[in-house]
Amino acid sequence: MMKEHDIEAIKQLLASPQKIIILPHRNQDGDSMGSTLGLYHFLIQLNHEVTIISPNEFARYLAWMPNTDQIMFFEEHREDCEPKLKEADIIFTLDFNALHRTGDIMSPFLESLSDKTFIMIDHHQAPDSYAKYVFSDTTMSSTSEMVYHFIHQLGKGHLIDKNTATCLYTGLVTDTGSFRFSSTSSTTHKVAADLIEKGINNAEIHNNLFDTSSYDRLQLLGRALQNMKLLREHKTSYITLNQTELDEHHHKKGDTEGFVNYGLSIDGIDFTAIFIENKSEGIIKISFRSQGSFDVNQFARNYFNGGGHINAAGGRSTESLEETVTRFVKIVQETKR
Ligand code: 5GP
Ligand code: MN
Repeated sequence: MMKEHDIEAIKQLLASPQKIIILPHRNQDGDSMGSTLGLYHFLIQLNHEVTIISPNEFARYLAWMPNTDQIMFFEEHREDCEPKLKEADIIFTLDFNALHRTGDIMSPFLESLSDKTFIMIDHHQAPDSYAKYVFSDTTMSSTSEMVYHFIHQLGKGHLIDKNTATCLYTGLVTDTGSFRFSSTSSTTHKVAADLIEKGINNAEIHNNLFDTSSYDRLQLLGRALQNMKLLREHKTSYITLNQTELDEHHHKKGDTEGFVNYGLSIDGIDFTAIFIENKSEGIIKISFRSQGSFDVNQFARNYFNGGGHINAAGGRSTESLEETVTRFVKIVQETKR
């Protein structure tokens, strides 16, 4: 829960119409999209002027969500986004813990806006200190669940309409792996139940998220699974996808979403990673997942310039794919039982 005196202060702030910006992290996922759009649909009902500014374009598999066409993109339309941010009264930052998660292009500009009232709502480890009001809880299933609680703390639960509920439910589903990860609490299920009572079409949401793949994407998944390697004695698996393999399958942003989880579905494996080459950004993007006590947030922070949660984290490398994987294997062999 957010601190009571912070809630009171935010209630005061929101009592009159404000210019509000909502920011998700770069490379949006279902939860960043669900929480930002959910908050958007709530705040517009209070007559605020609300704009969502995403650091970069989002993946097509999220485009069905209500009002994605209102989102502005900083990297593509900097000239339109900068004035909006400069004029803002309040900037909500959702689903990230540090400004650098908005990327190398947007984050320096945000640093220059330190006089603004930032409100952070986030469930990642180690929240930074840029925000005046911080609602950080690493035990929460998702930022979308936190937005639900935030709206209730403001005493406005009745304003959660079908659109808000659709967006928040999407974040719950995607960040809990469809309610299976250990972050799923009884409260998460109660929140989901309440959102369903708001009239959402939950079956359709699952379908929109998981049953709209292209043939190319499934072929790419086949390639990824064939590339999977095991380090059995270290209970570890990993997948690689190089740029050529991605190109061969006409890879589009978001196509590899969820691939990393297959590495954990093997019996006796509690740690997995996927390494995806991105030639245009000159990096290898890495996702880590674990089951149980192996802390991938710490692993990503220690060795791969990243972070996240205990069981789900990400990172990056500027070495080649081969060098990155070689280093990964060495670290696993030296540090993991
Ligand atoms: P994913 O592997 O799905 O991209 O991310 C898993 C989790 O780790 C998400 O909560 C995501 O926000 C976080 N994450 C992903 N990449 C990074 C990164 O480069 N740095 C940090 N600090 N967190 C990351
Ligand atoms: Mn996220």
